[in-house]
Amino acid sequence: MRILVTGGAGYIGSHIVKALGEKNYDVLVIDNLSKGHEKAVIFGKLIVIDLNNKQKLKEIFNQFKPDAVMHFAASIEVGESVVDPMKYYQNNTVNTLNLIKTMVEYKIDKFIFSSTAAIYGNPTKIPITENHPIRPINPYGKSKAFIEEVLEDLDKSYGLKYISLRYFNAAGADPEGRIGESHNPETHLIPLILKTAKGERKSIKIFGTDYPTPDGTCIRDYIHVDDLANAHLLALEYLLNNGKSEVFNCGYGHGYSIREVIDTAKKVTGKNFNVEEADRRKGDPAVLVADNTKLKKKLGWSPKFDDLEFIIKTAWNWELNKKF
Ligand code: UDP
Repeated sequence: MRILVTGGAGYIGSHIVKALGEKNYDVLVIDNLSKGHEKAVIFGKLIVIDLNNKQKLKEIFNQFKPDAVMHFAASIEVGESVVDPMKYYQNNTVNTLNLIKTMVEYKIDKFIFSSTAAIYGNPTKIPITENHPIRPINPYGKSKAFIEEVLEDLDKSYGLKYISLRYFNAAGADPEGRIGESHNPETHLIPLILKTAKGERKSIKIFGTDYPTPDGTCIRDYIHVDDLANAHLLALEYLLNNGKSEVFNCGYGHGYSIREVIDTAKKVTGKNFNVEEADRRKGDPAVLVADNTKLKKKLGWSPKFDDLEFIIKTAWNWELNKKF
């Protein structure tokens, strides 16, 4: 089976490419390398293009003739989306429309979409189920929520079958140390903590200590990126077996506060580092925890790495031995 993977040189995409390669899928990665890394693509072939290049996109569909498309290419920072919403509507909304329009033209009807817990906004109920109202509170969440609505229409009108995977907080790295998280600039909590432990940064800032949570800091559901990758493989197999369109939350169903993550990182790394209390970051809900019942029941997903210490160990190993 031929799988076209956009954004396959990025953090999450590259872990799915690894999982696809290990299962002998024929993988073609397309990535503009604005954030991704050539070296992160450890299986298949990479073509460097931007999704706004409609002509090149058509040529790729014409030649590769994918059986399914998995779409990771996107801008992903909540804070940046508030400062520069156009970037998010262009990269995440317009470019995704280009991609799915090409799919419709070439009659490719299987699509896996990287969605996000950010589409739920400030949740009214924890853990969050898939039928929680969609009320994004930042342009990042809105840019993804809109595509979910478009996909619903395209299924009804053209029979496009899609799985939208709503990610909670992807974390950790390949346990064998081949690939991992490498954003520049880095904005995510765990890699920033580890850079502080390594001595690359003076301190880690906690964004907000007055949230309505037991220790006042935000709670997130951190999911190991390989467990997330496995959810994608199951979703792909389901679509290839003619499953109908679905949306799934991807998380472990329990969360950790920022202070708990910091304490675990101190334990794993054996380093004591400076922690600063800072103001809240705009656009952050207090708690995001997934109800993953649907993913487990419908796709038979079962997590292998539901262990914050293990997640941080793999991320620490990567931080110390980065290949890109
Ligand atoms: N966070 C923090 N300090 C940092 C980076 C992040 O306190 O230097 C917080 C952030 O406000 C959020 C949580 O850590 O509550 C997870 O943020 P991250 O950017 O890793 O992921 P997001 O939840 O935005 O996808």
